Amino acid sequence: MDYQALADLLFPDVTDTPEALEERFPARQVPEGAVVTRMAPSPTGFVHLGNLVQGLTSERMAHQSGGVLFLRVEDTDAKREVPGAVEVLINTLKHYGICFDEGATMEGDKGIYGPYHQRQRASIYHVYAKKLVAQGQAYPCFCTEEELAAMRETQEANKENTGYYGKYAVWRDRSMEDIQAQLDAGNPWVLRFRSTGSIEHQFKFDDLVKGKLTITENDIDHVLLKSDSIPTYHFAHAVDDHLMRTTHVVRGDEWLPTLPFHIQLFQALGFKLPKYVHIGPLMKMDGTSKRKLSKRKDPELALTYYKAEGFPVAAVYEYIMTLLNSNFEDWRRANPDAPVDSFKFNPKKLNPAGSLFDYAKLVDVSKNVISRMSAEKVYSLLTEWAQEYDPDFGSKLAADPEFATRILAIGRGGKKPRKDLAVWKDAKEYMGFFYDGYLEKPDFGTAFDKAVIADVLNRFLASFDIGDDANTWFEKVKAITNEIGFTTDMKAYKADPSAFLGTVADVSTFIRLAVTGKTNSPDLYTVMQILGKDRTISRIQAAIAQLG
Ligand code: GLU
Repeated sequence: MDYQALADLLFPDVTDTPEALEERFPARQVPEGAVVTRMAPSPTGFVHLGNLVQGLTSERMAHQSGGVLFLRVEDTDAKREVPGAVEVLINTLKHYGICFDEGATMEGDKGIYGPYHQRQRASIYHVYAKKLVAQGQAYPCFCTEEELAAMRETQEANKENTGYYGKYAVWRDRSMEDIQAQLDAGNPWVLRFRSTGSIEHQFKFDDLVKGKLTITENDIDHVLLKSDSIPTYHFAHAVDDHLMRTTHVVRGDEWLPTLPFHIQLFQALGFKLPKYVHIGPLMKMDGTSKRKLSKRKDPELALTYYKAEGFPVAAVYEYIMTLLNSNFEDWRRANPDAPVDSFKFNPKKLNPAGSLFDYAKLVDVSKNVISRMSAEKVYSLLTEWAQEYDPDFGSKLAADPEFATRILAIGRGGKKPRKDLAVWKDAKEYMGFFYDGYLEKPDFGTAFDKAVIADVLNRFLASFDIGDDANTWFEKVKAITNEIGFTTDMKAYKADPSAFLGTVADVSTFIRLAVTGKTNSPDLYTVMQILGKDRTISRIQAAIAQLG
């Protein structure tokens, strides 16, 4: 067979050469040891936590080493593409702080190794397809869907491996005449790789996450170009990662089964094999067993979920770091205020079997992250969230930034900051009572006489002075307690509760209920200071009226 003639027959329009492409996309000028890597998602419209895990791993590896991170849009599967998905992808990754140095952007492609959309690279793939045909390493296959299905049935019935290989690779060694006849008849064809591998042979391979692997050779003549002459992922990634000078391919381990084929492809194409970083899946506990997070069953797989719940980006980011590098938490404890990117990320620490997603842990991390933010930061993130997801609350927050910021400053800044908020969704429950519109009517219960409670509130009003410091304020509360036959001596009360009508804690609760509508609130003195004199007084008056 004259392979060159076959190559010319199949690709008459290809005039470019691999050598010219090598020149067009020269080696990158990056420091020794720098990682050049990419995110190469398919624009399906669904951006998930796995994308973020992969994005963060590649981003850290690239930027920690002084290398390059680029975004390539793998849009070869037109059937799966959703309109606007590329924009969703770019915006979501940006929202989570994954910054690309080059590649697809909202303003078009940026960088000299483009185009960065695979469908725009068809002519480049064809240069290499032609080269493989000319080398006798690829050939056209005219099998119809029906023929392939029948072949599969036979293989299954015979309990043989399925696929296009060995005697089943019926177009592997067909004559030029046969091929010409099919082309003349206008029959569609795919281009297949001529595998020289054998499943009897194994070889060793080092993956940066999975470690040392023993891999069985590939014997299947996989498809390189589909019948519309668009490449499969396998072929496209080999060509792109070579020409884009990728040093590390960071991707999900669902690609591990086809890795033997990828290695063959790089060899056949004369490309240096990049390093591979195969990331295990995200799992969760389902009862007592682990399973992969599923798009259908687990809303928390979608990144939109975290935004809607109101997890700050920084919290999701830190949580993923915790998942990926087991030493991150210790580092964070030792460096509570250090910027997250000063942590030395190590891909070797990724669990080869995948990470276990734990919602409770995420909540915990988020509480910590929010507790370390300044009140101003919390105010701005919370308001932004509320304006989108709870517009009524959002407009209240936006109407008086100073008031809201003072509320959010409660318990912040010290060694042990309060951890009331895990997600922005929690904020209304926590601080809503400060806003008259959200204040709930107090429920004073039945343990104490209404008249006693009203008496406490009246006495409190009579002595109330917004100018008091916290100490004076509490002394007054204590004075009222003792005046009405309650006690401030908790020990004495414990020893003989029947000797007293109640305690200072009960008195505080009456006042707290009147002012906040709740039995639980941040420090009551501070709450009153923020509410101000008039609002505090009018709330207590309303409670007295309610007690009748
Ligand atoms: N488009 C592939 C995917 O979305 C990319 C895999 C890779 O990063 O090479 O799974």
